Amino acid sequence: MSTEARAIYRVLTKTYPDVKCELDFESPFQLLCATVLSAQCTDKRVNMVTPKLFKKFGTPKKMAGADIAVIEELIHSTGFFRGKARSLKGSAIKIMNEYGGQVPADLDDLVKLPGVGRKTANVVLGHAFDIPGITVDTHFGRLSRRFGWSQSMDPVKVEHEVGKLIPKKEWTNLSQRMIWHGRRICHSRKPACGACPLAKLCPSFGIGEMDKVKAMALLKTDADFR
Ligand code: SF4
Repeated sequence: MSTEARAIYRVLTKTYPDVKCELDFESPFQLLCATVLSAQCTDKRVNMVTPKLFKKFGTPKKMAGADIAVIEELIHSTGFFRGKARSLKGSAIKIMNEYGGQVPADLDDLVKLPGVGRKTANVVLGHAFDIPGITVDTHFGRLSRRFGWSQSMDPVKVEHEVGKLIPKKEWTNLSQRMIWHGRRICHSRKPACGACPLAKLCPSFGIGEMDKVKAMALLKTDADFR
């Protein structure tokens, strides 16, 4: 771990001490479904939809046998509901047919499930199976480039480059903290540099709002996401 990366990660850890997945779930399968639903949707909205969905189809067996129109209706408000419904049912069928009804705890197997990319797979591995993984979403990629940890726009390359800087046992926590920092402070268009705890360490300090009062007004809080 480089000294600079270690210093930045230390501040992120202090800023976001409680690392937890913001999606509600009671099994690896439910987390898989919630993560698929969270594409282009807030965690808050997903958590409003999943209690009903999981009451009806909370296991691979039940989801595999579900009427696709009923799934679509239950998840409608999360957006892209047709594609998401196909992914949920298709994943459940594959899990039943090829993995004995258990969500596989392996990246290569997970990404073979319909609608499941590396990002979703790593969320499931990290939070349901305690297997560390780096989740490169839009926030993680942007922050990695701003921190000078990677220059790449390719999520797989970013994953490998950052993986060399941060110890493996921290990968899941790092992913969560990067996502939070991206959502709350280091926004895509107007990063709140003047109110950022990384101001002294970040090589990109100054690309966003520098005035402290104006920067404070840009900050987002937990309430914006729950
Ligand atoms: S100093 Fe600015 S660019 Fe760097 S992490 Fe903070 S908000 Fe982002």
